[in-house]
Amino acid sequence: MSESCSQFKRVELDSDVDTTSSSSSFVTRFAPSPTGLAHRGHAFSALTAFSAARAAGGRFLLRLEDIDSVRCRPAFAAAFLDDLAWLGLTWATPVRRQSEHLGDYRAALERLRARGLVYRCFKTRKDILGDIGRAPHGSPTPPAGGPLSGAGEGALLAQGRPYAWRLSLDAAARALGGFDDLAFIEEGAGPDGERGRIAARPGIAGDVILARKDLGVAYHLAVVVDDAGQGVSHVIRGEDLFAAAHIQRLLQALLDLPTPIYRHHALLMRPDGKRFAKRDAAETVRGLRDSGVSPAALRAQLGFADLPAETD
Ligand code: GLU
Repeated sequence: MSESCSQFKRVELDSDVDTTSSSSSFVTRFAPSPTGLAHRGHAFSALTAFSAARAAGGRFLLRLEDIDSVRCRPAFAAAFLDDLAWLGLTWATPVRRQSEHLGDYRAALERLRARGLVYRCFKTRKDILGDIGRAPHGSPTPPAGGPLSGAGEGALLAQGRPYAWRLSLDAAARALGGFDDLAFIEEGAGPDGERGRIAARPGIAGDVILARKDLGVAYHLAVVVDDAGQGVSHVIRGEDLFAAAHIQRLLQALLDLPTPIYRHHALLMRPDGKRFAKRDAAETVRGLRDSGVSPAALRAQLGFADLPAETD
């Protein structure tokens, strides 16, 4: 076993393995970013994953994706746990908090860096907005520009200019001999009904940022490290993240991590066809609780009337 594999094993053993046994190897998770209060859409997604774990006799994990220390607040994280418990959900403990695992993400980034798969990007938000403005109309992603020359980069480093790390799709394609063999299984559906074996198209978002200037990590990298570290067999989440699976599949290949099965679900929509937002106070779980809705009533409204819970 390589050193990196044993590292992941250790992560799993130290932090996330639930000691209660379950009858199957099915492990799923709900992974909210605590940037506000949980709303109906979160409740629906959490219940979807929870009931799937129940149906499979597997385990349900909770992960707080709180790497963005400006947008995520401990009070929102605590409220998420409290609201989900009120809803009748139970999960393995301890809950994984991404802010406590920055070293794991740094180690993964270092493995990619050592193989020349990432490059420094010094662009500012203004530069990137300018690139978007100049990109041909309809182009899905502005060109990231690729790595700078050694001298150009050295000069910016000497000036102490901050930088992000981007994944190099060119270097990744060379390392893997192309992306033709990359695929994942979709057991739910993508926004256009994609289902079954999906050929991954990791280029859809260009050279994505894997480590933000301010945080040293970014969403895709943290998610693949955590899904592997937590032994997640099924990623169950909203279809708005279907595109992310294409990119995450590539990262799994580059980091020698297992690929979970994906089950994206349709998003719960407001009656006006819009998505629920954390600012809709009346539609937050907290707001519904305050207005006297019971956990069983909310579960029934969300289509989970059959889900028994010990807490009612
Ligand atoms: N933290 C992400 C969100 O709240 C979800 C990440 C995932 O499920 O992969 O949208």
